Amino acid sequence: MPSATLSMNMIWLGGATRVARLHPEGDVEIVWGAPPDHFDPADRLCLDFANTVGWRRSRPDERLGDYDALLAWARRRGLLDTPRAARLAEAARARPALVEAVMARAHALREAIYRIFCAVAAGERADPAALGLLNAELAAALGRTSVVLSGDGYTLAVTDDPEALDQVLAQVARSAAELLTSPDLGSVRACAAEWCGWLFVDRSHGQRRRWCTMKVCGNRVKTRRHYARTRGRDAEAARA
Ligand SMILES: [Zn+2]
Repeated sequence: MPSATLSMNMIWLGGATRVARLHPEGDVEIVWGAPPDHFDPADRLCLDFANTVGWRRSRPDERLGDYDALLAWARRRGLLDTPRAARLAEAARARPALVEAVMARAHALREAIYRIFCAVAAGERADPAALGLLNAELAAALGRTSVVLSGDGYTLAVTDDPEALDQVLAQVARSAAELLTSPDLGSVRACAAEWCGWLFVDRSHGQRRRWCTMKVCGNRVKTRRHYARTRGRDAEAARA
């Protein structure tokens, strides 16, 4: 049996320094610092929303734990400017029961989107219950969407009460509907790493991208393979 020594390392992962324990089989366990964020401007909003659970298939890491986290995500994604996010945060403090209901809807919508696009990535039909949930949010979103002037042209905008706590969900639901009916649908993939499960749109030239990010899952898979190969060579040498 190989020695099970663990090494602690400072690593550069997803654009920030973290301390990780490198397991002998190549697994990377982050012990200090946040797990990497998924943010690829090329990806669709709805997939980024689905990816707000880290390490989905191994040690799920919830990144939308409360309403402030939802607002922070929406700000990073450019859905809310700072004054609007601050106004929503203040409105939320006065309505805790409503906040709880919005977060329950946010999590249900996220899981529905995840299930739908996992099915798409696997070449399967989406679960009707997940599609029904998306359609209910879409109906609510479209009822609050208008065509408005934007520069020299027009754009669709959620014309909401600025204190409507669920306004971010409307934009996410619309993004999911747009992706489901766009030519990009055939390029939706789920990360091939067994611990991950993040979704992305494969925009690579040959349409052969397998990992959500090379920096995280691609390197981790390579490390595991390298370890498996060297362990095999060590075992052969020991038998010789
Ligand atoms: Zn991944």
